[in-house]
Amino acid sequence: MQYISTRNKSLSTLSAAAIKKGLSAEGGLFVPNQIPTLSLEEINDMVSMSYIDRAVYVLKKYLTDFSEEELKECAEGAYGGEKFSAQSPAPLAILEKGFGVLELWHGPTCAFKDMALQILPYFLTKSMKKTGEDKTVVILVATSGDTGKAALEGFSDVDGTKIIVFYPSDGVSDIQKLQMITQKGDNVFVSGIRGNFDDAQSGVKKIFTDEEANKAFLENNCVMSSANSINWGRLVPQIVYYVSAYCDMVANGETELGESINVCVPTGNFGNILAAYYAKKMGVPINKLVCASNANNVLTDFINTGKYNKNREFHTTISPSMDILISSNLERLLFDLCENDDKKVSAWMNGLAKNGGYQVEEEIKQKIKDIFWAGCCDDLMTKETIGKVKEEYDYTIDTHTAVAVNVYNQYKEETGDLTPAVIVSTASPFKFNQSVLSALGKGSEIEQLDDFELLDLLSKEAKMEIPKSLKELKNAEKRFCGICGKDELLETVKDFLSK
Ligand SMILES: *Cc1c(COP(=O)(O)O)cnc(C)c1O
Repeated sequence: MQYISTRNKSLSTLSAAAIKKGLSAEGGLFVPNQIPTLSLEEINDMVSMSYIDRAVYVLKKYLTDFSEEELKECAEGAYGGEKFSAQSPAPLAILEKGFGVLELWHGPTCAFKDMALQILPYFLTKSMKKTGEDKTVVILVATSGDTGKAALEGFSDVDGTKIIVFYPSDGVSDIQKLQMITQKGDNVFVSGIRGNFDDAQSGVKKIFTDEEANKAFLENNCVMSSANSINWGRLVPQIVYYVSAYCDMVANGETELGESINVCVPTGNFGNILAAYYAKKMGVPINKLVCASNANNVLTDFINTGKYNKNREFHTTISPSMDILISSNLERLLFDLCENDDKKVSAWMNGLAKNGGYQVEEEIKQKIKDIFWAGCCDDLMTKETIGKVKEEYDYTIDTHTAVAVNVYNQYKEETGDLTPAVIVSTASPFKFNQSVLSALGKGSEIEQLDDFELLDLLSKEAKMEIPKSLKELKNAEKRFCGICGKDELLETVKDFLSK
């Protein structure tokens, strides 16, 4: 299978090169030139498979330049072993008949990004070999919290790689900061920067195109790469858990093989819900894809009107991983919906860069509306939903998952659709303990508690065990306490390379 760029489809390459590069040279995203299919018989066969076997089955349809043996090594390395705490890496909790919650937060950093960032290092090191690359790959990451830690965990002590993460020193939660500065591994480096997330992100982007930086990398026998969600190697493992969730709905008798389910996804960069779209397109019986946003509702408006407009106020919410105004992966959806019209996609993306938006024509808008339904909810509604779900099902969800549950309820109310549904749960409630406890009715008494006391309290309230990786932070050695100025990223990187 060939991969083509959304902005120039005559550029075509195998998946190993697409994964190594991350982004196409002219700024487009790599997509498969044709989406493979899954028949109902195949899905039926997968019902009795383990998660790892389901993963290999789906991955081999996309990464055709990898052997089945190689893909097995990747999937076993990522999802076998002890990294995921539950029996399956992506278990489905059934709250009532026809209502499942896909728990994607049992990995080492307690957020769904582990599902992709645990396997990406395996894809990447194999891709380096396949493309004849013998230099060390250095992953550069700017993070607002979740991605940095998940990438560190994934790449820690992976041969042939190094990773550097920059985070805004006052822009992440205490737990998120502790998670990063205590990271183990000989090939990792973490630094705060005096600035916000945008400063971190633009600083990192600058290094990618900076001549001096490129020279420094070559002198140290290194090449740069990125682990953010525009890399195809992060998207493809996410398709697997939608196929797996459908198999589990069938296995549990929540739906008959061949009958449809709805899927609702708390959305930021549009990566997670795009993977659900690919699963649907492959043949997994999915009816509606419900796109849930917080107060940053640029996608709600786009799906409802066909007009993308990022020129609006940015809200800081209690579901911070969805605080985003530019959803990069939407580009891949648009490319598919306009039947690979790269000229059109380029024009829209130029509009986004120049004027902060674009408008798609009626035909595309109609296609979007046939497949998606979109809604949003604010912090107050998010908290109310956490309380209601706890009361009704004795089940505790985090703030991001709560946005999805709330929006799904709006969808049901408006449409009366009673199709069995899967809500995607993207983070452990322990990761956002303060907001969750406050939603569960705790008042000012929690204000004096430190993060570990909050974890204990939430554990009692939710009757859930504290994830081991969070508990261990308390006594973990702080290895990376440095902070650099926002113009000092390159110096910091050079220092690390020469070590
Ligand atoms: C990253 C993230 C999201 C958003 O996912 P996208 O793929 O960017 O849409 C939602 N919830 C959590 C907890 C996240 O970390």
